[in-house]
Formats: sequence, structure tokens, C-alpha cells
Amino acid sequence: MNDSEFCEDCKGTRRVREKDGTIHPCYKCLSKGKMDQHNPNIKDASDLGFKL
Ligand SMILES: [Zn+2]
Repeated sequence: MNDSEFCEDCKGTRRVREKDGTIHPCYKCLSKGKMDQHNPNIKDASDLGFKL
């Protein structure tokens, strides 16, 4: 898998904002295992309003 591949779902931000303003991790990137948990730009799941 090419890490430089551009994700159309999240525009490379690893996060997706829905029309209602809800922000959640990009499922497409998650499925690819591209979510970098050491990235300081990615907040805790609770900060994103993402219910596990
Ligand atoms: Zn994505």
C-alpha cells in the first residue's frame, strides 16, 4: 500500500466531517491501518465526539 496515496474521503486529514458537523476518524484510512496513533494532530476519540 502506498502511504502517499491520497484519500478522497478525508482529503488526507484522516478525519471526516459529516454534514451535521460530526467529526470522526476516516474509516477508509482506519481500514488501511494508516491511522498514526503517535500523530499529535490526531486527538483522543472522545475529543472527536466519536463513541466507541
Ligand atoms: Zn481517509
